[in-house]
Amino acid sequence: MNSPEKVTCLIIGSGPAGYTAAIYAARADMKPVMYQGMQPGGQLTTTNEVENFPGYPHGISGPEMMVQLEEQAKRFETDVRFGFITKVDFSGEVHKCWTEDGHEIHADTVIISTGASAKYLGLPSEQKYLQMGGGVSACAVCDGFFYRGQETVIVGAGDSACEEAHYLSKLCTKVTMLVRKDDFRASKIMAERVKHTPNIEILFNTETVEVLGDGNGVTGAHVRNNVTGEERTIPCTGFFVAIGHQPNTEIFKDYINLDETGYIKYEQPGSSKTNVPGVFVAGDAADKTYRQAITAAGTGCMAALDAERYLAAKGH
Ligand code: NDP
Repeated sequence: MNSPEKVTCLIIGSGPAGYTAAIYAARADMKPVMYQGMQPGGQLTTTNEVENFPGYPHGISGPEMMVQLEEQAKRFETDVRFGFITKVDFSGEVHKCWTEDGHEIHADTVIISTGASAKYLGLPSEQKYLQMGGGVSACAVCDGFFYRGQETVIVGAGDSACEEAHYLSKLCTKVTMLVRKDDFRASKIMAERVKHTPNIEILFNTETVEVLGDGNGVTGAHVRNNVTGEERTIPCTGFFVAIGHQPNTEIFKDYINLDETGYIKYEQPGSSKTNVPGVFVAGDAADKTYRQAITAAGTGCMAALDAERYLAAKGH
């Protein structure tokens, strides 16, 4: 049995939050070790073009941006590893973590940047056009711009769906909202706003049967009313899914305080501290409100600075 590896700063997850934390931690000589996780590069790797990250006046593709962030982290000698952490024990002074192949790591500080995963309907046609970047998206703020002057469909009935439908309504000629029950889950004010937006049509009791396309991109949605059984086709070029996100925090739940939906709770507002000293959080694992690459990067910076200060206070 190998003895545990000792590291000063372990970063779990490789989206913009993790890479930014790595850049700051590495430049502060904390010799960060990063485990990239199940989806190296995170959610941005399923985004086409990123046009709203400052510093890229002509935009950049999501995967390309993540390659650049990785290069930047490695330039300062971040140890970026393919693999993921499957178990932690944060009960003691030393933070113990295990990789999927049983390698044990003892970390002075841990930065959790495991992100969140958008939920999808799971239809094969939806997944097909999602994978090929052909018109399926879970982020209207990221991708809505590509559907300017076109018709879109959005699935969901929560605050996110209402907010995103409203966002799309300003860009698109028509937005059709598919709500599976006979009412919204969203707060009244958000629901009222979409109800009063003239180019948003709301179809209640309506589920998606299939996302339609021509092999290159989305052309429509085939839907069914689950009360009357009536089926119809709605033409659209963008199919948005806003049925919630799942933060990737399951392995931390025995030690880290989570809210009722699984997001990590900040111990102290305005910092990246969790309830466990020496364990910090950055990015979407603690953010159900903004969920942007730039906010994730910002909190990644905060986590590295907080980790550095924690170590300094302990005399490192
Ligand atoms: P929610 O979990 O609140 O809502 C998810 C919605 O998706 C529900 O209406 C649900 O329908 C629907 N849904 C789930 N699965 C399916 C499916 N397979 N087919 C069709 N519809 C489906 O997620 P949100 O992302 O909207 O919000 C998450 C949290 O963030 C909430 O607490 C919300 O209030 C908060 N938030 C607040 C905002 C604000 O205040 N500005 C903005 C955005 C989010 P059903 O109702 O039938 O279960």
